[in-house]
Amino acid sequence: MSMERIGFYPGTFDPITNGHTDIILRATKIVDRLVIGVARNIGKGPLFSTEERVEIVREEIAHLADAETRRRVEVKSYEILTMHFAMEQGASVIVRGLRAVSDFEYEFQMAGMNNRLNPNIETVFLMANDKYQFIASRFVKEIAQLGGDVSHFVSPRVLRHITARFAQNGKKKLAAKR
Ligand code: ADP
Repeated sequence: MSMERIGFYPGTFDPITNGHTDIILRATKIVDRLVIGVARNIGKGPLFSTEERVEIVREEIAHLADAETRRRVEVKSYEILTMHFAMEQGASVIVRGLRAVSDFEYEFQMAGMNNRLNPNIETVFLMANDKYQFIASRFVKEIAQLGGDVSHFVSPRVLRHITARFAQNGKKKLAAKR
């Protein structure tokens, strides 16, 4: 068995925010290799396709910390059970971020159920820096859609993707009305 500790960080990442990136950076300090799993999650009606979300996360990783850290991070998409994918990746820990109390109930239940599915894989919770604690992809999208400034919540790269997507959606709506 390899001594390398592999962590799996699953999420929708629609799109990746400064909160996610902060968690990724923290996770790289406790595992040797980190696999970021972009869940297909069609049910959530994502703004970006799975392929786009993966690409955007990869772009963020390309700007993360130092080269040594970047080499230890990989981004993959998946559509099977999170626990099964974590096992396929050889992960020994699943990384989740905890924001306010509001995340606790859901994360607590999921960690408990995942532990039943495979007691050998621990879920570890990390907290983002204070300034990123309140950021959620859902609100970023809502604010941006209504023309609000989200530049403090996402990187300039992600901001460009969001702006382009809403401009595109706006044009589609106009075309549909005609
Ligand atoms: P999901 O669809 O699984 O909720 P998300 O992409 O929203 O996926 O989030 C993935 C993980 O990152 C979750 O554990 C979530 O709690 C965490 N997370 C998201 N935003 C933040 C943040 N601002 N601070 C800390 N953790 C966060």
